[in-house]
Amino acid sequence: MDNLIDLPDAEGFFGDYGGKFVPETLMFALQQLEDTYDRLKQDPDFLKTFDHDLSQFVGRPSPLYFAQRLTEHYAGPQIWLKREDLNHTGAHKINNTVGQILLAKAMGKKRIIAETGAGQHGVATATVAARLGLECHIYMGAADVQRQSLNVYRIKLLGATVHAVDSGTATLKDALNEALRDWVTNIDNTYYIIGSVTGPHPYPMIVRDFNSVVGRELREQSVKLFNKFPEAIIACVGGGSNAMGIFYPFIQEPEVKLYGIEAAGSGLETGRHAAPLNDGQPGILHGAKSYLMQDKDGQVIDTHSISAGLDYPGVGPEHSNLKDSGRAQYLAVNDEETLRAFHMVTRMEGIMPALETAHAFAALDYLVETFNPTDNIVINVSGRGDKDINTVATMDGISLD
Ligand SMILES: *Cc1c(COP(=O)(O)O)cnc(C)c1O
Repeated sequence: MDNLIDLPDAEGFFGDYGGKFVPETLMFALQQLEDTYDRLKQDPDFLKTFDHDLSQFVGRPSPLYFAQRLTEHYAGPQIWLKREDLNHTGAHKINNTVGQILLAKAMGKKRIIAETGAGQHGVATATVAARLGLECHIYMGAADVQRQSLNVYRIKLLGATVHAVDSGTATLKDALNEALRDWVTNIDNTYYIIGSVTGPHPYPMIVRDFNSVVGRELREQSVKLFNKFPEAIIACVGGGSNAMGIFYPFIQEPEVKLYGIEAAGSGLETGRHAAPLNDGQPGILHGAKSYLMQDKDGQVIDTHSISAGLDYPGVGPEHSNLKDSGRAQYLAVNDEETLRAFHMVTRMEGIMPALETAHAFAALDYLVETFNPTDNIVINVSGRGDKDINTVATMDGISLD
């Protein structure tokens, strides 16, 4: 297992997955980014600034919190919550944008672009761009612009420009295509902040490294609070950045089980889901090889999930390799189970999780029975649920107008 932690290799591969499948014009920009990152990640001043921003702007470290009533309810293992929902802007995504904006600054780039689905990465990017006074453009599928009007307005309040993308299904994958197009055209002055452990090398590595602060904190906190590492870590998986960030510092600890939870949408058997690791095949999308939801001709198919942040046909290449190697296991829970978990956690703990996160909670129904009362398991609470209140109300048949 030692070698899993040394990935990606020099070409950007995690086993069979990853790489950089991009046009010639982007190759130079990706190399420039990789060189800059390789230099800065060993630079004490850079690391000090990153640490400072994580503590003073994001509010880290996030607590490792004991979920008393959930633990009593399941009467199985001790259940702990890693509270990424308490970060500034309400999710784990800010860890990565705070890091990448420092790379942009170091590279002298004055213009920032990003893609966004539900709008969370758009908000996290517009937030750090505002802080440094940089011009910022956010690409978002036109359908998502409609569905996520509150986040669209938040992005605009932060001074960024939102570009609605009409092509394809007008959702996240189309926004990503458009952002890549912008980057090719404006490569000299533009930095592209990718929002998950996806895209061409070196992005999956960089986004993982910046989010790994979560797993590093957990190593210290678990030893302090219960004298050992947890028996298991559970995290939802869209592109896979919150999961990678908490998994990575434990990859070489075989006693810690790693569970990634994908969105089964209407059910895996219906085909209406967003679970490429559970029901997909390897293919190439957005510059990297990974498990992918595609038809038998290799065409990317439409996804469905109650949670916009998990509604993506691909997944980060490192997760594909962790799946094939058996180091992590990937389950999927459906919309209905997720909604039930959302309500249960909200009422039982006084913590309203994001619908993405509620997938990780829903998996407890399947996982708790495999553990003893002396075991400790940790759920990564990737974000808070305020953004999802309209969706939940609609699902519950309640009108807020
Ligand atoms: C975006 C988002 C996710 C999914 O993205 P990953 O890259 O898989 O982490 C999960 N939870 C929340 C709260 C999000 O905003």
